Amino acid sequence: MRQPVVLYSNIWATLLMLGFFLVSGWSGSNPLLGAPNRQTGLEHLQGKIVVLDPGHGGGDPGTVGVGPTTEAENVLAIAWELKSLLERYGAQVIMTRQTDASASAGTQFDGERNGQLAARVAIANRSRGQIYISLHNDWHDNPQIRGTSVHYYKSQDLALAEVLQEHLVGHTKAVDLGVRRSNFYVLRNTSIPAALVEIGFLSNSDEARLLAKPSYRLEVALGLLAGINAYFAGGF
Ligand SMILES: [Zn+2]
Repeated sequence: MRQPVVLYSNIWATLLMLGFFLVSGWSGSNPLLGAPNRQTGLEHLQGKIVVLDPGHGGGDPGTVGVGPTTEAENVLAIAWELKSLLERYGAQVIMTRQTDASASAGTQFDGERNGQLAARVAIANRSRGQIYISLHNDWHDNPQIRGTSVHYYKSQDLALAEVLQEHLVGHTKAVDLGVRRSNFYVLRNTSIPAALVEIGFLSNSDEARLLAKPSYRLEVALGLLAGINAYFAGGF
């Protein structure tokens, strides 16, 4: 015959446990009340302002590789995923384009040489954005080449580029092509810390196929989210 299990042998132990549960329940975060940050470690995004720049768009599809989707389509989809994640953790997001349109459409820069790049820079520099991240896919004549790199130009860009590369490669398990200094227009002309992310090669059939998949785009966005959080956690 089995003994009945006695959980609490007396009323004082019961009251002590009840008190413990009440206190721990009170101080713990409740995801139903919209406070998931402490559980996920993404608490450094609250109140931050991020400029997201999906490259190309409108009449410019960017790289048209060997997969089913263009660079302009891929990076816009990743930007929307990242925007909603950032907002979920309390950040504000400014997009340089929200649809398949040129960033310069309807602006003073329309029709100028480098006009769509100037429009992106102007959006960043006139905003209260704290960081600027431009999203692209890469191309190489050798279809075997694959991987992800993050580019910076100004000295104030380097820390951002490094954390984005670390977390992006950590999430996607892409080949790590490192952080590189590149004299790109949008990096040279932005007045805030800026990075240009080359997410995979559309000349590589595996990466081109992955970049067309919503699940992979979400992984990319999660990696960038973690990188942005780590950047602000570093006190920049
Ligand atoms: Zn591009």
